[in-house]
Amino acid sequence: MTAAERSIPFFPYSQLFLAREEEILAVMTDVCRRGAYILQQECRDFEANLSNFMGAKHAFGVANGTDAIIIGLRAAGIKAGDEVILPSHTYIATAAAVHMVGATPVLAECGADHMLDPEDVLRRITSRTRAIMPVQINGRTCDMVALQEIADDHGLLVCEDAAQALGSKFDGQSAGTFGVFGTISFYPAKLLGCFGDGGAIVTNDDMVAEKIGLLRDHGRNEDGVVVAWGLNSRLDNLHAAVLDLKLKFFREDIARRREIAALYQEGLGDVDDLVLPPAPDADPRHFDVYQNYELEAGQRSELREHLTESGIGTIIQWAGTPVHQFKDLGFTDHLPKTDEFFRRCLMLPMNMALSDEDVSYVVASVRRFYGK
Ligand SMILES: *Cc1c(COP(=O)(O)O)cnc(C)c1O
Repeated sequence: MTAAERSIPFFPYSQLFLAREEEILAVMTDVCRRGAYILQQECRDFEANLSNFMGAKHAFGVANGTDAIIIGLRAAGIKAGDEVILPSHTYIATAAAVHMVGATPVLAECGADHMLDPEDVLRRITSRTRAIMPVQINGRTCDMVALQEIADDHGLLVCEDAAQALGSKFDGQSAGTFGVFGTISFYPAKLLGCFGDGGAIVTNDDMVAEKIGLLRDHGRNEDGVVVAWGLNSRLDNLHAAVLDLKLKFFREDIARRREIAALYQEGLGDVDDLVLPPAPDADPRHFDVYQNYELEAGQRSELREHLTESGIGTIIQWAGTPVHQFKDLGFTDHLPKTDEFFRRCLMLPMNMALSDEDVSYVVASVRRFYGK
């Protein structure tokens, strides 16, 4: 076996820091020298800039993207006995958040576009259903018109897990701003990654905003008076400062991700065994930001092995396990479309450290596997 020509990790974590080392250190030094650690000006600035970027009325920095969903659900009044419909094709955190507020996660299929399938949502509505939670997976936003129509017809709330979709749009509107609340994650490998855990909740609802503000900081109001039960789930001011810096470059980052997706499309669009994610210009209603580049491959295992030997890191998302397959959590659902998707899915590298040459190398390696 010959050594690979290149080494392309799936996600180069250190680059998150190294790519802007000096600017980041300057921001961190400034915050630390002033001892501004918890809910300080940088956090307020970042929240204002984030809500502005997304076109939302309110934004709150919280400890992580999972807390964001838990706090959002609590603020929206989801409680024990309620059912929330969400896709099985998501991270366990989405379902866990529903469980943690005492409600029941009801798992639905994904459609051909890999997103929550509105028709399957309809089939799962019962008298206990309170909310639909679309997950804006891989940087794409669901058809929110179809889902909102179902929600309106049945008197349900829409709660969005937009952990993977900061900057993504449907019909010109930002992921996270359609429902009663939307959540974002700043986990390092997410679109806007920080150096640990971080998250945010956005909402256009003043009442829900007030509850979120209390829930994330011990139930304390702006005067520091405890007026409700709350948690400690605040975005560190240091992280807020770094995220605020990174947000300034975020539009360029998205443009670059879309460029990489276009290169993959151009290089791999003719390979019969592959189903690629929609190209950046495939549908004017969708503005996708490519948190991930997840394709389907009939010969997934063999392809993955070939890419590993070529020095290319790939991932089978969530270790290949959709939520309904976690039998220890009591799920007994049969979701054949989701099962089939998880037998075929594979993620190619998609991150800000990739050069055009890296992308060409990945494309050439995939093509070589298929004898092209
Ligand atoms: C990352 C992620 C979360 C959780 O975010 P954390 O910040 O890791 O807690 C929730 N849902 C989805 C779809 C995610 O990808």
